[in-house]
Amino acid sequence: MRIALIAHDNRKPVMLKLVQENKRAFEGHELFATGTTGKLIAEHTGLSIHCFLSGPLGGDQQIGSRVASGELDMVIFLRDPLTAQPHEPDVSALLRLCDVRDIPLATNLGSAQMFVDDLILKKGSAL
Ligand code: PGA
Repeated sequence: MRIALIAHDNRKPVMLKLVQENKRAFEGHELFATGTTGKLIAEHTGLSIHCFLSGPLGGDQQIGSRVASGELDMVIFLRDPLTAQPHEPDVSALLRLCDVRDIPLATNLGSAQMFVDDLILKKGSAL
């Protein structure tokens, strides 16, 4: 699977914990991320991640472009709904494109954990 990981600043520790605690679920998949999120996860987990630009510099749009052209299969985007994001239009555009293409999108830890559980389940049944 081609999986994109994005987290707003306040949610980055949550994203990191999710990936650290479920590292084996993510192994073997092609991972993509916005710049800061990807760098953080790669540094702390050793997972290989293709990092796009930082979100505010266009990373959300780069991931959106991959979604639009059918090159991503899952997006985990841990959003911070309580803080105004300078690049909110890009965030909304990415969410919209996921809906256009029916790409599974988790925007909070609850749904992200269900996605991870699904990855683990599929990994188990592939053994
Ligand atoms: P970042 O971008 O991972 O580069 O911080 C995420 C975002 O703010 O959309």
